[in-house]
Amino acid sequence: MRRTVIAGNWKMNFTPAEATEFIKVVKPLVAGKNKCDVIFCAPYVTIAAAQQAAKGSKIKIGAENVHFAEKGAYTGEVSAKMLTACGVEYVIIGHSERRQYFGETDETVNLRTKAALAAGMKVILCLGEVKEQRLSGITNEVVAMQTKLDLKDVTAEELKNIIIAYEPVWAIGTGLTATPEQAQETCHVIRETLAKLYGKKAANGVTIQYGGSMNEKNAAELLAKPDVDGGLIGGASLVPEKFAAIVDAAQ
Ligand code: PEP
Repeated sequence: MRRTVIAGNWKMNFTPAEATEFIKVVKPLVAGKNKCDVIFCAPYVTIAAAQQAAKGSKIKIGAENVHFAEKGAYTGEVSAKMLTACGVEYVIIGHSERRQYFGETDETVNLRTKAALAAGMKVILCLGEVKEQRLSGITNEVVAMQTKLDLKDVTAEELKNIIIAYEPVWAIGTGLTATPEQAQETCHVIRETLAKLYGKKAANGVTIQYGGSMNEKNAAELLAKPDVDGGLIGGASLVPEKFAAIVDAAQ
């Protein structure tokens, strides 16, 4: 049985004090919602405050990226060893904003993924097509290729620590959402690709989230699809009531 996971991606939002306040409000709203896991991925400087505020609740605090080297001359970067030393279990890798604005490629995404897994972390691996690719009818090929490249040399054992977030880039932060049918079709293609790489049983165990303007209004329909096992939430993860309503929809 795969877990349903609702994860917030705070991006470059929330000071430590703001994160503390947010968690204080959202904590009772998601308490007892045992049918899904709840994670907030926070800016590095906010992680400690969020962890402190989340103590004693089901909420886990993750990071938004990680470097592939263990240490060294990589100004501005943070290693998996540093994150695990701070008690961080989850990390987002390959978010489209990293690919779009910071030059990340499937190759660096793969390196970061392998480094995080080697350090014992759980990875939320983001992939998805851009608008032109969807309009050209090559979405299935694009996500299959990303799945293969991003997971290159990741073992079947390590796959147990991977969550895939299917995020059509045209739907992120735009208010445009994939239809439930589009989300299902593409998540299914990702699962079929995993089955070719790792076998059906392993593929069936992988949580595949949908991300891209998921909100309190459209979550139930998207989450009802058989291959959509959760959500990666940007904008709506900054509003406690909206995020909690998505968690409710996942129950
Ligand atoms: C995201 O950043 O991963 C995301 C899905 O953002 P939004 O929900 O705002 O589209």
